[in-house]
Amino acid sequence: MPALRVLSLYPELMNIYADRGNIAVLKARCEWRGLGFEHAATSLGDRFDPSAHDLFYMGGGQDRDQVAVAHDMEETKRDSLHEAADRGAVVLAVCGGYQLLGHHYQLGEERIPGVGLVDLHTVREDGPRLIGNVAIEVRLPGLSGPRVLAGFENHGGRTHLGPGAQPLGRVLKGHGNTGASGFEGVLRDHIVGTYLHGPLLPKNAWFADWLIATALGLDEPLAVLEDEFERAAHADARRVAGV
Ligand code: GLN
Repeated sequence: MPALRVLSLYPELMNIYADRGNIAVLKARCEWRGLGFEHAATSLGDRFDPSAHDLFYMGGGQDRDQVAVAHDMEETKRDSLHEAADRGAVVLAVCGGYQLLGHHYQLGEERIPGVGLVDLHTVREDGPRLIGNVAIEVRLPGLSGPRVLAGFENHGGRTHLGPGAQPLGRVLKGHGNTGASGFEGVLRDHIVGTYLHGPLLPKNAWFADWLIATALGLDEPLAVLEDEFERAAHADARRVAGV
């Protein structure tokens, strides 16, 4: 029986809007199908074995916590993360975690380092925070046709994609990466960054399944689950977002 091996990065520091709820969804959806689930955490000062995990997860965080995390990641985790991603592991990063996947996050005079897994940078601007319900249209490898991700965003940083970066989706409603670009998040192979909280996966159970299937590299499609409540929550989130 295959097991999904998940590593949470800085769960005690990067957990705005109960982003750890995403882990609970991955666990439940694996276990409901009889798949194994292993969860470990890594934080300040720790190193990890890049081959020991299939999916790496980081949630959102306050600017001040991001500063400590950014410097620690550069020192103790950057190389292992690159090694894991190059080997095909899935990386999912939300909001503050997403910002740290890029080259840097400019906070006034201070420039904090990102891990450089994707071609983007983020700037903390004086303008209003970008807050509200958001819906984006995404097209993911292996899925036929476009799908909608629904969530909630609250960020001061504006994320600018470089020429080598592909957005995760097109904004249907909400602000997205900059409030003006019309795009949200980033997608590079198996690396996903997004501003969507909710938490993301309880509102978008189908996306949790895409992550599980991709991380495990399964030949067979995942068993279908009875998702009546998740579909109702998703429809409700779309109704609130107005799409
Ligand atoms: N501190 C970051 C910002 O304000 C990320 C916030 C978050 O994770 N919600 O842009």
